[in-house]
Amino acid sequence: LRSVTTYHPAKLACWVSGQATPYLHVARALCAMDSTTKRLRIGDALTNMFRSVLELSPEDLLPAAYLVSGRLAPDYENLELKVGGATVAAAVTEATGVSRAKLRDLYNKMGDLGDVAQACRIKQTTLAMAKPAPLTVRGVYATLRRIASEKGSGSASRRQMAVLRLLRSCREHETQYLVRTLVQNLRVGAGWRSVVPALARASVMAREGMHVSKQRLEQAANAGVAAFHLCPSLDVLVPALLEEGIDGLEQRCSLTPGVPLKPMLAKICEGIPDALRQLGSTPFLAEHKYDGQRAQIHLLPDGSVKVFSRNCEDRSPSFPDVADAVRAAAKGGAKTLVMDAELVAVDRANDNRLRAFQELSTRARGQVTTHEVTVAVCVFAFDLLYMDGEALVKLPLRERREMLLAALPHLTPGHVQIAHSFELCAGSDAGTKTPVSRAATPQLTDADTNAHTAEACDNSPSVAGNAEEAEPDMDVAARVQEALLESFAAGTEGLMLKALDGPASGYQPSKRSESWLKVKKDYCEGLRDSLDLVPIGAWYGNGRKVGWLSPFLCAAWDPATETFQSVCRCMSGFTDAFYQQATARLKERQLPGPKPYYTTGERPDVWFEPGEVWEIRGADLTISPVHMAAVGHLHASRGVSLRFPRFIRIREDKRPEDASGPDVICPATLHPRRMVPDPFRGQHHI
Ligand code: ATP
Repeated sequence: LRSVTTYHPAKLACWVSGQATPYLHVARALCAMDSTTKRLRIGDALTNMFRSVLELSPEDLLPAAYLVSGRLAPDYENLELKVGGATVAAAVTEATGVSRAKLRDLYNKMGDLGDVAQACRIKQTTLAMAKPAPLTVRGVYATLRRIASEKGSGSASRRQMAVLRLLRSCREHETQYLVRTLVQNLRVGAGWRSVVPALARASVMAREGMHVSKQRLEQAANAGVAAFHLCPSLDVLVPALLEEGIDGLEQRCSLTPGVPLKPMLAKICEGIPDALRQLGSTPFLAEHKYDGQRAQIHLLPDGSVKVFSRNCEDRSPSFPDVADAVRAAAKGGAKTLVMDAELVAVDRANDNRLRAFQELSTRARGQVTTHEVTVAVCVFAFDLLYMDGEALVKLPLRERREMLLAALPHLTPGHVQIAHSFELCAGSDAGTKTPVSRAATPQLTDADTNAHTAEACDNSPSVAGNAEEAEPDMDVAARVQEALLESFAAGTEGLMLKALDGPASGYQPSKRSESWLKVKKDYCEGLRDSLDLVPIGAWYGNGRKVGWLSPFLCAAWDPATETFQSVCRCMSGFTDAFYQQATARLKERQLPGPKPYYTTGERPDVWFEPGEVWEIRGADLTISPVHMAAVGHLHASRGVSLRFPRFIRIREDKRPEDASGPDVICPATLHPRRMVPDPFRGQHHI
């Protein structure tokens, strides 16, 4: 860590122990991180920066952590800066004296307002200016929070004035990173996955000295990440580190109702035989995979209910009906709970038939009252993570499901139900169906209900994924196939297969776990799972599409290299209205050229800032001479491309960094490939 080319805080002559940390300290760390794509170096720069703060002004650790992450508060506080690029550009013009035309010209050349502001700033230093007081970490953070909470008349000009004052006080690289922070595009690879381990490592070094072992540093990083998974709030993590160090994290950063934990994610599999092989001989749950919106629902001791999205954003104001339904379902059961669920649009007038996701997306957003609810939703609960003072995440799924039933004694069809499921056991002589959820979904077919009658399963414990040698059980495979068809008939997307017993079946926050496998319709149609991709460029349309953009260049996100890697040109699945709106929307994000972190052999007519995430379905993947997705996984220097891509929908619940990555695009590289028998199609290459 000490070998990293960084600076010592003492070099900032104005910073002595106990005094406010200069913002320059953070800006220099950001600059060091910006100059590398190597995650280790980024981690080292962060650790060193935090260590100095801990040494000299520990009370600045929290604002420093927020400033390097480009955030102001935990996601669930929904605190956004709300400063548009135009406001910042106007402030840059005023602070530097550079004309708007010149600024636009520079922006077209450089593609980043922070870099442009820095260039203008450097020129401006030749002008005689009164020297303003240096910026401090706590001062910048407090001003940004004030800007974010400005409301009412005159708020726009107050925001503009505050931005201007900040810019006028900038030194060195402060301008560049402050402007990037203001336009919410810091782009230095300092997501929470880098920031949290660095905080934990810095804390250990500050407490135990610079010579702590590598293992201790790694242990600290893991403890920090585990704590943040359960309680993703720097507001909790940083004070815990300051007061008790990493050894206090487990107790201080426990699962807390009202604070959403990062949701567990499912792995794709390449069909039923593959799923069964991965699950091994453990009993598992075959559960309907509903096509709605993920919701982590918290019932708090005061009876209030919070609904959090997949991204841990607070969506409670949009779901007053869900709050009422959950309170009613939990009456006489849990007083406090945290459950994982899918919200699905239902047709109450038609036996609570499940409606398509598209209909859910038309539901009124923002603050609505129960009377303003336009689309009825049903909560399909599938996991319980906390109940009445006890965190349940480490318990096996079987126990969590039993407790879920106890937590919700008043289930009502069409309002709150348990996700429909039954138990199977791949390792036994015959697969066995036993009910795990007592509340069958009433809109399901007779076949569905019949699925609830079967003999008991051999529950001998085993670990998911521990059966490389075992061939999938044909009888169980046939039952899963049957259940899959039933699930489609019931209007769901397919099945989730979840390990029921053993430590591997614990709830693993934020993990794409092998204990949850998704089997979707796509596999039955011989197609792959859909991908969530980011449009990064487009060509000007021809013929009927003149005036619109088409096709769009879509990219996957590789978190290891922090690059967007192109996967395909997409030009099908769009309506004319979509073309029109997308053209207008994406032109707002137009860039003069590709970002340095775009990797592709394509040269589209226009490039965009990453912003939207689109769900795209395709046929299969091929090694590509131009596309770079998952480069290094299947081929050393070439990426893969998606054939016959078709747009499905915009994923409003995902950010560009949530787009599909190599783990989703070619999971086979993570599991050894081999020939396995497919009970339905003879030999089948997985
Ligand atoms: P991911 O969330 O894994 O990145 P995604 O959002 O694109 O992927 P899918 O890959 O289709 O969604 O599948 C996972 C999602 O399925 C979950 O996030 C959840 O919203 C939904 N889901 C529906 N039914 C269930 C269920 N029974 N158990 C778990 N998740 C379910």
